[in-house]
Amino acid sequence: MVVATDYRNDVDEILPGVVADRRHLHENPELGFQEVKTAAFVTERLQALGVEDIRTGINSTGVTGLIRGTGDGPGRDKVVLVRADMDALPIHEENAVDYKSRNDGVMHACGHDSHTAMLLGLARILNDRRDTFAGTVKVLFQPAEELPPGGAKGMIEQGVLEDPHVDAVFGLHVSSDTKTGVIKVGSGPIMAAADGYRITVQGKGGHGASPHQCVDPVIIGAQIGVALQTLVSREVDPLDNAVVSNCVFKAGEAFNVIPDTAQLAGTVRTFKPETRDLMEKRITELATGVAESMGGSATVDYTRGYPATINDPEMAELTMAAARGVVGEENVEIASPKMGAEDFSYFLLERPGCFFFVGTGNEDKDSEWSHHHPRFDIDEDGMAQGMATMAATVTSYLNR
Ligand SMILES: [Zn+2]
Ligand SMILES: [Zn+2]
Repeated sequence: MVVATDYRNDVDEILPGVVADRRHLHENPELGFQEVKTAAFVTERLQALGVEDIRTGINSTGVTGLIRGTGDGPGRDKVVLVRADMDALPIHEENAVDYKSRNDGVMHACGHDSHTAMLLGLARILNDRRDTFAGTVKVLFQPAEELPPGGAKGMIEQGVLEDPHVDAVFGLHVSSDTKTGVIKVGSGPIMAAADGYRITVQGKGGHGASPHQCVDPVIIGAQIGVALQTLVSREVDPLDNAVVSNCVFKAGEAFNVIPDTAQLAGTVRTFKPETRDLMEKRITELATGVAESMGGSATVDYTRGYPATINDPEMAELTMAAARGVVGEENVEIASPKMGAEDFSYFLLERPGCFFFVGTGNEDKDSEWSHHHPRFDIDEDGMAQGMATMAATVTSYLNR
C-alpha cells in the first residue's frame, strides 16, 4: 500500500477559514429539504475554488462537484465520493455562544454544519494539492439526513453515483461522546436499520359486563405485545443483535366499554438484511395469527426506514490506516455498532466505502452534550483531524 500523503500542515493552514465557515453555517441553520442558503453558500465556495462540474438542485438542495487529480497512478480512472449532510434540526438553541443560531427554533444540534465546513475544507486542500493524487474526488453535499426518507436515497436515484461512475464512498460524523483527537472506525455493520410498524387490531366492541358477546381487542393487543417480545429472544441468532420496542398501545375510553379496536406501534432495529426481513415477516405473521386465533383480525403496516450502515472491511482498513497516520495508533479506536441510523447507508448499499467518527468531545470546551441536545456544540479542533483523515483516506484509495 502507498503511504498516505500527510495533509496535516495544509489542514492547520486552512483551519481558521473552516471554523469561520462552520460558525456561519451554525448561525444560519436550515431544516431538511430547505437548505437553500446553505446550498448557495456551498456552491459559491466551490465555484471560488475552481471545482469542476458543479451541479446544484439535486433532490431539492443537493450539490456535487469534481476535483480531478493530476498525479499519475493506478487510480487515475477511479472516482471516489465524499459526502456531507447539510441539514439542521427543529430545536431551540440554548448555547450562549456568539455564533448562536439566528433562526429561532432551528439548530445545528447534530454537527452537520461542521460536516459541510469540513468537506469545503477538504475540497480546498485537494484542489490545491491536485498533484498528490490520481483520479477524481467527487464532493457531495446532501439535504435532509435527519428527515426520513432522507436526502441520500433521492440523490442516488437522480444519478449522483454515475457520470462519472463512482467507485467508492466515504463519509464521517462528529461525535460528542468521543474525545477530540480520537478517530473511531468500524468494520462491517456500524449503525442499525431503523424500521417502524403499526398494528390495528379489529375486535368487536360492546358492554364491559358482556365479554362473551364481544371480541376484546385489548386482550388481543396484549397477547400480540407479549408475542412480539419473543422475536428477539427466540428467533434471532443470539450472536446477532436486534431490538423490537413496542412503544404505543392504545385502546378504549370508558371503563365499562369493550372497545372495537386497539392500536400498537413500535420501532425495530436490526443490522443484517436477513434479520430485517425476518422481523417484517414475523411481526406481520404473529399479529395477524394471534388476532385471528382469538376471533379478531389485525392489519400490519410495516415501514422501512434507513437501512443498516455497513462498512466494507477493506475500506475500513484503509480508513484506519489513514487515521493512524493522522492521530497516531493510540488514538484510533474500533467503533462499536450503534442502534441509531444514518442515511449514508444508502451510499454503502451501492458502493464499497466507510463511514467513520471524529471525536469532538472536550470537557474544557463544554462540547460533551449529546447530539440533538439544545446545548450541543463541538470542539472545532476536531475538524482538523476529520479533514486530515478524510484527505489521507481518499488519496490513499486513489493512489493504491
Ligand atoms: Zn442527528
Ligand atoms: Zn447527524
